[in-house]
Amino acid sequence: MRVFDIVIIGADTSGAYFGRLMAEKGFSTLVIDSLPENEIGARQYCIHLDRSYFEESGIPAPMLGDNDYLTSYEYNMNESAYGHYPIKTNYPYIVMKFDKFSKRLRDWARKVDCDFDFETKFLEFIFDARKKICGIRVEKEGIVEEIYCKLVVDCTGIAGYARCKLPDWYGIENKPLDPEDILFANVEYFRLKRPERDKLSYSTIYPYYKVWFGPIGEDDTAQFGACAFGSYENAIAKGEDFKQTIYLPPHDVDKIEQGMMPFRYSLYSFVADGFLCLGDSAAITKPYNGEGITATWNLCKIAATYVTLAMKDGKYPTKEALWPINTKYSRGQGADFAELLALTKGALNCSKEENELEFKHGFGYEESILTSMNVHFANKMNIRQKIAQFWKIAFILYFEKLSKQTIKNSYRGYIIGKKAKSLYKKYPKKPKHFAKWCQKADKLWAKYRTL
Ligand SMILES: Cc1cc2nc3c(=O)[nH]c(=O)nc-3n(C[C@H](O)[C@H](O)[C@H](O)COP(=O)(O)OP(=O)(O)OC[C@H]3O[C@@H](n4cnc5c(N)ncnc54)[C@H](O)[C@@H]3O)c2cc1C
Repeated sequence: MRVFDIVIIGADTSGAYFGRLMAEKGFSTLVIDSLPENEIGARQYCIHLDRSYFEESGIPAPMLGDNDYLTSYEYNMNESAYGHYPIKTNYPYIVMKFDKFSKRLRDWARKVDCDFDFETKFLEFIFDARKKICGIRVEKEGIVEEIYCKLVVDCTGIAGYARCKLPDWYGIENKPLDPEDILFANVEYFRLKRPERDKLSYSTIYPYYKVWFGPIGEDDTAQFGACAFGSYENAIAKGEDFKQTIYLPPHDVDKIEQGMMPFRYSLYSFVADGFLCLGDSAAITKPYNGEGITATWNLCKIAATYVTLAMKDGKYPTKEALWPINTKYSRGQGADFAELLALTKGALNCSKEENELEFKHGFGYEESILTSMNVHFANKMNIRQKIAQFWKIAFILYFEKLSKQTIKNSYRGYIIGKKAKSLYKKYPKKPKHFAKWCQKADKLWAKYRTL
């Protein structure tokens, strides 16, 4: 029988990162994964990360010549539905091989004595006489082992495999995400036929279609991703609609990958007695571009601070002691993301022609607003920009064909976003006010669905 302070289930980007943070603080930490180490992250060829996060998070950034480095670029483009009004967003990206980058994180965690077990599957929780979590049962090569610990962390990804195994009486959401709250991605890897003409040096996002097209390293390669809620069929249909409208350079498709992102509301609570949820199993990715890895590192950092306090002097981390993780996240990134989700959903509820006009006149789409949405996750318009936006609507309404319904949709998105932000900013400091807060949040998300 092995005993640790903390056991983390899932050794990919959230599990490895959180493992490092906790081992660094002196907790004996074990991270398990059901896959062999070289298969972790291999479901996806590459990922893009905002370069600034490496410095902020203390993770050594991949450089040219490293086995996970593919390419980097200084800015992105955002394009209208017909592709005539590009807008630059200024923040640099690094593109990396996912499996190798995932390994980079685990090696970084190993440096502070974080332990890893692979091909080790989580089976179920072990509860003590008080009915509190005190460990897990795992299976490796057909042998079942009991591992005891004070805190179990679910980093199993979008399936939330561990949290969904908790009984109803444990007091945490234990249902899988609804497909309508999941963004399904269909990703095609292109071999460009005329690289000397068509080589890409930045990525372009087409928000109307939830499509991106960007470089992945070699001059003659590119990645084309299309996303939609509900199913992969919807995502493929979005991609086809895009291809009927926008020119793509001649290419062959080398391979196709599919994957899911949690894209609507995050869990209302991430904590229970001796239990914590992080990564895709807990919270949504960035609302504008689906970057989930860096989005979750913020949650991991908050969690590391309060887990350390909750477990000080060998204490058992109760739900009450872990609760500040909920409060801090929800009042910060949670509030920003909730606002952005509503804002972007309202703004995109329009026709292609209208999206084109909005880009043309900079209504909602201008460099500073888009950059701010990606860097600060917030709609940080100053008073001058707000007045300018008002005149832009007036101008478009008077001179162009923007329907009143579309203006109404944008306005509703703006208002619901403001309400969501305000509600999340008032996330309860103590669990006893949580049930009331949930009722309000349920009502708000019901309104959000009508956008
Ligand atoms: C197509 C696509 C493109 C994306 N591109 C980007 C991008 O460019 N940049 C970005 O930041 N994000 C991107 N994301 C999001 C990003 O991939 C996720 O946010 C991130 O991988 C989540 O990490 P995680 O560690 O929480 O979960 P996962 O990466 O899903 O890892 C979960 C781990 O848990 C293990 N596990 C599951 N069940 C068990 C069990 N019972 N026992 C033991 N282990 C278990 C799994 O084997 C796995 O290794 C993209 C997502 C998709 C779908």
